[in-house]
Amino acid sequence: MSGTTIVSKIIQNMVTKNKFKVIVVPVLQDNYSYLLVDELTNKAAAIDSVEPEKVLSVAKSNNLTIESILTTHHHWDHAGGNKKMKELLPNVPIYGGDDRVEAISNKVGDNDIINVGELKVRVLFSPAHTSGHVLYYVNKDDSSCVFTGDTLFIGGCGRLFEGSAAQMYHALYEVIGKLPNDTLVYCGHEYTYKNLLFAKTLEPHNKDLLEMLEFSEKQKEKGQPTVPSTVGLEKSFNPFMRVHLDSTAAQQFKRENPDASPIDILGYKTCFKFKGAKVLSVKQL
Ligand SMILES: [Zn+2]
Repeated sequence: MSGTTIVSKIIQNMVTKNKFKVIVVPVLQDNYSYLLVDELTNKAAAIDSVEPEKVLSVAKSNNLTIESILTTHHHWDHAGGNKKMKELLPNVPIYGGDDRVEAISNKVGDNDIINVGELKVRVLFSPAHTSGHVLYYVNKDDSSCVFTGDTLFIGGCGRLFEGSAAQMYHALYEVIGKLPNDTLVYCGHEYTYKNLLFAKTLEPHNKDLLEMLEFSEKQKEKGQPTVPSTVGLEKSFNPFMRVHLDSTAAQQFKRENPDASPIDILGYKTCFKFKGAKVLSVKQL
């Protein structure tokens, strides 16, 4: 059995045994909107529904009633459909953690609960990519999933536009990292293949990473999404959830900065990835 089959099989099994349904709606160039469905009531939440007509037509063809609109953060490619959603569904509340979220009606904070049919969605405040970014976490019986927006991607994390490495570290380790390992991860963009090519430069011999890279390449060729991943899988190959472990690049950084903290290493990795520069000291972060 090839590695690709193992990865896709594990994820497929988990999706199948899940107690609620998530419908993936690819939008724009590489964004994802989602419909979180309570199958008992056919009520749903639309997450980051930047192309309203597309999301509503998927909801309609699945016989779903959208009763809430959840926005992870204010960037246009996530929140930019909200005004139109409000026109089309005037009585449906629009949730977000930031006043800048387009057409927001209900501002939420850490640990707030939003009901979707019988499902309870928990808000997890995770400022870093933006200062008002939130995650949405759902748990029912033994199943759970988290919508991570631009905080955690498969094999990567979001850019630090308005936050610090310490905040991203908190989001990845203290918030997402503490969720059950089999929590399904639905992120805001299809960046998996590129992310894993970068990850491979840091850990060229990580078997889980190489399997996921192969899987993502196949999905890319077929035009299929790589979501969902799981929290446990991310811990096994995502370089931003592995700053406590040595990797080819982190070793050099550590040699130069023997007292570097895990947060410094995360900061170093984001500089390395997003700025392309070889940062060699904590002072340069
Ligand atoms: Zn963003």
